[in-house]
Amino acid sequence: MAERVLIFDTTMRDGEQSPGATMTADDKVEIARALDRLGVDIIEAGFPFSSPGDFEAVQRVARAVRRPIIAGLAHANAQAVDACCDAVRVAERPRCHVFLSSSDVHLLYQLKKGPEEILLQATEMVARAKKKVSDVEFSPMDATRTQRDYLVRVLSSVIAAGATTINVPDTVGYTTPDEFYDLIRYCFEHVSGIEKVTVSVHCHNDLGLAVPNSLAAIRAGARQVECTINGIGERAGNASLEEIVMTLRTRHDLYGVETGIDTTKLYPTSRLVSDITGLVVQPNKAIVGGNAFRHESGIHQDGIIKNPITYEIMDPVSVGRSDRELYLGKLSGRAAVRKRLSELGYNLSDEELGKFFAEFKRLADTKKQVTDQDLEALMGEERREERGRYRLENLQAVCGSDRVHRQASVTLVDRDGKRLHRVAQGNGPVAAVFAAISQAVGLKPEPELLDYTVKSITGTAEAQGDVTVQLRADGVVVNGRGVSTDIVEASAKAYINALNRLLEAPALTSV
Ligand SMILES: [Zn+2]
Repeated sequence: MAERVLIFDTTMRDGEQSPGATMTADDKVEIARALDRLGVDIIEAGFPFSSPGDFEAVQRVARAVRRPIIAGLAHANAQAVDACCDAVRVAERPRCHVFLSSSDVHLLYQLKKGPEEILLQATEMVARAKKKVSDVEFSPMDATRTQRDYLVRVLSSVIAAGATTINVPDTVGYTTPDEFYDLIRYCFEHVSGIEKVTVSVHCHNDLGLAVPNSLAAIRAGARQVECTINGIGERAGNASLEEIVMTLRTRHDLYGVETGIDTTKLYPTSRLVSDITGLVVQPNKAIVGGNAFRHESGIHQDGIIKNPITYEIMDPVSVGRSDRELYLGKLSGRAAVRKRLSELGYNLSDEELGKFFAEFKRLADTKKQVTDQDLEALMGEERREERGRYRLENLQAVCGSDRVHRQASVTLVDRDGKRLHRVAQGNGPVAAVFAAISQAVGLKPEPELLDYTVKSITGTAEAQGDVTVQLRADGVVVNGRGVSTDIVEASAKAYINALNRLLEAPALTSV
């Protein structure tokens, strides 16, 4: 049997560090369930010491999802390690992931400590974690810019202290595939005790090399890769889970290793993460982008019709994409809607389906063909309404060339059923709606609008408008999303979603 590479997903920790991608505990539990179905081996659920909210989110994930290992990240200090171990201890299989910088630049400019002191601190904190949980991972941050002999000493020392996984992170996305292959080989040859532990890598995409570097490390013997859905993460992001998994599968002839991933869940998981984080996937993104399986050239189309193998190296169905466009409409019944939703990865209870079906009918009345994207958008709307403190009850906006009349009246309802009503003016209907909502909620200081984007979900005139809004208040950035056939209403929903997130956002600690 082929050797297994463990897939360590850090969408909810490193991915959450993408601007605006803050997740609530409910969001994290939903993503964790999807990652469990996808078959990932380890879920890094957050950073328990960073905020009480994240501590709770990690615990809820640990209680809800029992098959995968649940990891929390911790700085190498006693309080952070203790908080992390306390948070993950409720998991069926808990892991504490300790990290500390090891490169000269970080030691000199950031930590202002000497190498011996750092070596001791890393070793002591691994030993401390080991007393509380048996599965301990250690990461020497900025490993690819660390002197090799020092890196070897640190890794040997944490293994002696009980680390069971050692991770070699390319924190700043600096290395290249050849160099990284060489570094991992060097570790295998020089780190003492390395044969007893799992060797992991964690690559960032600053030079667009996160996936190739991870693959080079696998060839060099690494057996855990840290990655995220859609490649989201700090700055240019992390290695993309779907690209690594599909490369290992498509080019099994080269790599000869297996993963535990059910690839047919890749696309639905990508859509879910995009919907929850508000981070839109670019059309040309490999595997999960809108154009990834679309053939435009006549010669290519001709070939595909004769035999898909001519221009397609992967079957779209194998990554969970439908091979045909399916529509539902006004005449589709409950059973048809339930069946399609379940094919898209959503399994609803009778009560949930009843509620969803009413929304579906409303949409089918205004739009002839209801596509998969429409269904997903409706699911996203339901989720946001359920989880937010405020939801939109009523909206009237007046626009036109007469400036005086550009105003909006908005009614919101909070969780306790209390109604908030405001009328406001703006230089257009959307500005007036945002002003009315912001005044109704009364958040101080008033959030700053960083970005506002409208696109259509299916590209026809009757299509639903998909609006994303990015807000910043008190240094916290959040994304909001809203969908409706009326773009002013979609804008209002997106703005409310962003405000709800601001109200719940734990202050993030960046690593
Ligand atoms: Zn990272």
